[in-house]
This record gives sequence, C-alpha cells and structure tokens, in this order.
Amino acid sequence: ATQPYDDDNIFAKILRGEIPNKTVYEDDFALAFHDINPQAPTHVLVIPKGRYVSWDDFSAKAEAEEIAGFVRAVGHVARTMGLVEPGYRLLANIGGHGHQEVPHLHVHLFGGRPLGPMLM
Ligand code: 5GP
Repeated sequence: ATQPYDDDNIFAKILRGEIPNKTVYEDDFALAFHDINPQAPTHVLVIPKGRYVSWDDFSAKAEAEEIAGFVRAVGHVARTMGLVEPGYRLLANIGGHGHQEVPHLHVHLFGGRPLGPMLM
C-alpha cells in the first residue's frame, strides 16, 4: 500500500505557495511548473492538486473529475508549449524501485530536443 500523504513534502509546500515555482499552467485540478534541475530544454512537472502520493492511490481513490482534470492538464501543457508536433516524453517515477523522490504524484514532461531511447 502507498504510504500516508506527508503534508510537509516539497510539492505540498509549492501548492500552498510556501515555496516559489515557475508556473506554466494552473487550474482547479493541476499545477504545472518548471523542474528546478532540468534534464532537457523543456522539463516541466505536472501535479494533481489533491493529496496523492503516487499513481496507486490516485488511480484508486481520486474522483473521476480529478483524474480527467490532471490528464487534460498534461495534454494542455504539451500543446501550449509546442511539444506535440516535435514530440515529447512523459515519465512518472513511482515508489522505491521507481526512484520517486518527492512523495506527491507528479508526471515529468520532457521535450525540446531528440530524447533518444529511454534510460533505465
Ligand atoms: P522524482 O524523482 O520524485 O520523480 O523527481 C522529483 C523532481 O522534482 C526532480 O526532477 C527534482 O529536480 C524536482 N524538484 C525537487 N525539488 C524541487 C523544487 O523545490 N522545485 C522544483 N521546481 N522542482 C523540484
């Protein structure tokens, strides 16, 4: 089972406005902001606003409108940043084996150059 949600995690603080971020997009369900340590010319994180540690509890417990809102926000960011035509990569690190460092569900959105094969 997923660990309990930690309200002191860094993305919770970003959602509360306690830590600054470079916001790309925000709506009722999601916040998108630039990664502090970008691994590609475009490296954006998209997070749901709800208190979800991982894909496990999000997919099991979130309301359908929260899931739809999050998925639509990811697509909106890709479109508005001009990533659809050249292409881009979505990545979610989940749990220990997935090397998830921040325990609030997030999707990485990479683009702006050819990314090559996925690194393991
Ligand atoms: P994970 O390994 O959990 O999927 O990745 C967490 C990501 O969050 C990393 O790419 C890291 O650079 C990013 N990150 C960690 N702390 C901050 C922060 O305070 N602000 C921003 N914008 N990104 C952060």
